[in-house]
Amino acid sequence: MGALAVLACSAPSGAETIVLRDFTLIDGTGRAAMANQSLIVSDGRISWVGPSARLKVPAGARIERLKGKYVMPGLIDSHVHLGLVDGIAQNLQYQTAENIEKQLRLYAAYGVTTVQTLGTEKDLIFPIQQMRQRRGAMSRVYTVGQGVVFKGSYGGVPGLDQSVATPAEARDMVDRQVAKGADLIKLWVDDEFGMLEERMPPQISSAVIDEAHKDGKKTVAHIFYYDNAAELTREGVDAFAHSVRDRAVDDALLGQMKAKGVWQMAATLSREASFTYRTLPFLDDPFFTRGVTPAVLKELASPERAAKLGAAPNFPKYAPTLRHAMDNFAREAKAGIRYGMGTDSGPTARFPGYFAHWELELMVKAGVTPMQAITAATSANAEFMGAKDIGTVAPGKWADLLVLDRNPIADIRNSRAIDAVYIAGSKVPTIWQTCTGRPAAACGARP
Ligand SMILES: [Zn+2]
Repeated sequence: MGALAVLACSAPSGAETIVLRDFTLIDGTGRAAMANQSLIVSDGRISWVGPSARLKVPAGARIERLKGKYVMPGLIDSHVHLGLVDGIAQNLQYQTAENIEKQLRLYAAYGVTTVQTLGTEKDLIFPIQQMRQRRGAMSRVYTVGQGVVFKGSYGGVPGLDQSVATPAEARDMVDRQVAKGADLIKLWVDDEFGMLEERMPPQISSAVIDEAHKDGKKTVAHIFYYDNAAELTREGVDAFAHSVRDRAVDDALLGQMKAKGVWQMAATLSREASFTYRTLPFLDDPFFTRGVTPAVLKELASPERAAKLGAAPNFPKYAPTLRHAMDNFAREAKAGIRYGMGTDSGPTARFPGYFAHWELELMVKAGVTPMQAITAATSANAEFMGAKDIGTVAPGKWADLLVLDRNPIADIRNSRAIDAVYIAGSKVPTIWQTCTGRPAAACGARP
């Protein structure tokens, strides 16, 4: 740790030594759960983890007994957007540091202790990114800054200067994002079900990918179509931020992705699923409702909203889109393509934190095991992001931890049985201790 990082780590409670003892450990690597484990947190980081029988409690340590509970790494959501909405109203004017920090506290409350933002953030994201090694009640932030949009085509948000028309402009934009501190580079290749005139052409996408690699950064592409996935794979893209959703992936593409090490960084199954509903199916679930205001709930439940969504020209396309996304994710997993967990939460009606737990559930429904889904959301995401001090429960890592009352390996929905969330060894308020915009009694019991 450099001098700068030490300065940035000056928040209180860091010097405390904490012992968590007698839990079942799911360490994030994919290794089977281990009973009767303990760990020691010193200065925000895990300094020891192992069998309770070998625990040597340091003098003066605070001890938390977690018998019957499950400890795993905090979740990482590899695909989010921050500060786009106030409630469900979407407008770039809502993108303030205050609103972003509010959303980062909500992610943390749901046990999502790190997020990676994918390309719709103003430059104010970079000072927030810089704080990721500081202790606090907010999720850590990795970011691409602004993603690259081809003029007039899909992607980005109105009001951000992120459109390019030529390969030279594309290279210049990549260099600017890298200079600002982007962790990786994002590009969009889509045309909104053919409603837009063109998609980003290969001469632009290949320039983005080449320049990012020259700058030492990975690239992640928004894709929808099989053909674009195949072309981007040829061009050397590092990852996809969504599943292929227009048709089944075949052995040719799977083989190419595997040979070139392309990741399915995010399958965004919760995003695709959310579009298939006129009225979202979890409006009476306290795990959801605690995170939103009564006004948002009322809007989400309104018959007018349901009618409007159902009448949209693209509405019938979403169910087959979701099926392709789930089937293709399962095929990739089976073929040995590396994958992470990402939701694309943040835009209107795609909810921070809640969607990460829904995503895990949908990944399992698609065909991976609960352990594989958890591994994707922890060590695999950290590996892709190059985030060396998060993602597993191991000595030297930040003590970013999710403590559960029930076993998520037995039922992935038990990821919602959140007893405690730690960021750098400090407990943060969980969603079960949160009650947005109403009296506590009105928030519904924890199941
Ligand atoms: Zn996105």
